[in-house]
Amino acid sequence: HETVYSIASGKGGVGKTTTTVNLGTALAQAGKRVAIVDVDLGMANLAGFVSLSPDSTTLHDVLAGNASVEDATYRLAENIVAVPSGIGLDEYAETSPEGLREVVSELRSTYDYVLLDVGAGISHETVLPLGLADAVVLVSTPEPAAIQDSRKTIELTARAGGTVAGLVLTRTHPGSDISHPDLADRLDLPLLETIPEDSAARESVYAGTPLVAYEPNGPAATAYRHLAAELAGIE
Ligand code: ADP
Ligand code: MG
Repeated sequence: HETVYSIASGKGGVGKTTTTVNLGTALAQAGKRVAIVDVDLGMANLAGFVSLSPDSTTLHDVLAGNASVEDATYRLAENIVAVPSGIGLDEYAETSPEGLREVVSELRSTYDYVLLDVGAGISHETVLPLGLADAVVLVSTPEPAAIQDSRKTIELTARAGGTVAGLVLTRTHPGSDISHPDLADRLDLPLLETIPEDSAARESVYAGTPLVAYEPNGPAATAYRHLAAELAGIE
């Protein structure tokens, strides 16, 4: 079955990191061993979502050939680890994304699920993980601009030799003009889950705690648990 997922989007700021952290934590809560990896090398921010210190060893050190994957792997909670990226521009300049292939294959052999938090846009380091993963989870808000940019990510994934598993619509509001299944249909993708707008999402980032642990019974956390159950086939 598929174990390495790229969490990707065309437009930035649509909820990729939120999805990576909460899907990963929900899978871990369900007993799966999970690694979440910040491959948004230019605009890394996964560490902040889970209260990791960015000045310790990061994926940038691994990709620069100065550290092992293990050195950059941090335990977050039971069953879940994170591999953060550095946040400095200098670190970024020294990094070659080519080494990602090896990092992913090493993590794949150790964990039940590996989730890659991919950068937005169409740069090389964004496209590479789209082809490395077993499947891409495409994240978008319902906004027309975000849906439009999603088309590019779908096409880039195909060019990179990857597969899009489906769409996760985030920050949805009840009673919007166009139905969510229709949006997924327009992209020719199955709708994996809709994650409602939930003020606890932002609060959980300030708390440095995943939403599914911070407010486990809220609407967004419930939806992320549902997504995890669906992907892992535990309904
Ligand atoms: P990306 O990684 O795609 O740039 P983030 O996960 O950082 O996006 O989310 C962007 C912003 O949207 C953050 O401030 C986050 O807290 C907020 N956000 C994400 N999902 C939700 C949600 N379901 N409800 C409300 N705010 C959300
Ligand atoms: Mg992000």
